[in-house]
Amino acid sequence: MALEKYKSKRDFTQSPEPTGDTPRRSPRGRTARFFCVQKHLASHLHYDFRLEHNGVLLSWAVPKGPSLDPATKRLAMHVEDHPFDYGEFEGVIPSGYGAGIVMLWDRGTWTPEVDDVDAALAKGDLKFTLDGYKLKGSWVLVRTKGGYASRGQEGRSWLLIKHRDEWSSGELDIAEFAPLSVKSEGDFAEILSQENPDIWRSNRPAQSGETGALFERIVAQAMQMRSGARDSGSEIRDSGPGTRHSGLGIRGSKRQSRKSAAPLKGAKSAKAVKKSVASRPKPGRGR
Ligand code: MN
Repeated sequence: MALEKYKSKRDFTQSPEPTGDTPRRSPRGRTARFFCVQKHLASHLHYDFRLEHNGVLLSWAVPKGPSLDPATKRLAMHVEDHPFDYGEFEGVIPSGYGAGIVMLWDRGTWTPEVDDVDAALAKGDLKFTLDGYKLKGSWVLVRTKGGYASRGQEGRSWLLIKHRDEWSSGELDIAEFAPLSVKSEGDFAEILSQENPDIWRSNRPAQSGETGALFERIVAQAMQMRSGARDSGSEIRDSGPGTRHSGLGIRGSKRQSRKSAAPLKGAKSAKAVKKSVASRPKPGRGR
């Protein structure tokens, strides 16, 4: 029932996205459950922030992505619930709703800081703790008052805010610093190169402006990766830039195995993650 809107927007004969037909029983109370953030290049680049609750993924589209700076409140538009299975999805949506490239940008667990999540959502103030790769510590989602009310959008507009703690940072731009997938470690071009980069020869999800230019670059890169892979006879995933990155979606070291991509557990390793994130120089990639 909760997924009616999700299903009605999509044609699963055209889209590789999960159909949402696998039922899921979620933990209740202050128990850790799944969360993820999907970086989604569609008509506009945005970050889909998803929290498991009652068998589905509550979802907010965050145009600028999460910020580790408590002073930076990020607009988060509440969108339709997504199936639990969607949390592992990464790939290309060739056409239709959300057409573009989806990257699994972060994943891990979230724990409510309240006993009653439904009551917190109804109130428009949900405090929680994240334990992902890139996002950790205490956060809050707060529904804004007014704003879009005149356009019938009342209640859709929320703010995603980092609480001040050992995981907050006023300097580190996490979206810029750790831009890659935690699933494949790829960027958008690498994800596209795994499919048919030629699907958008015409009629790209975005044709003009900044997003159109970004698509054009990514399609060209993906085509090049494929032809490079053909020429050398090597596998596509080995034909990318020489420098790879660690498990934080940061360029620099070797591609991790799927298994090692599980969220790091325990305060000690968590602190080590933060330290390694904070102490590394920014990669300075122009995207
Ligand atoms: Mn999206």
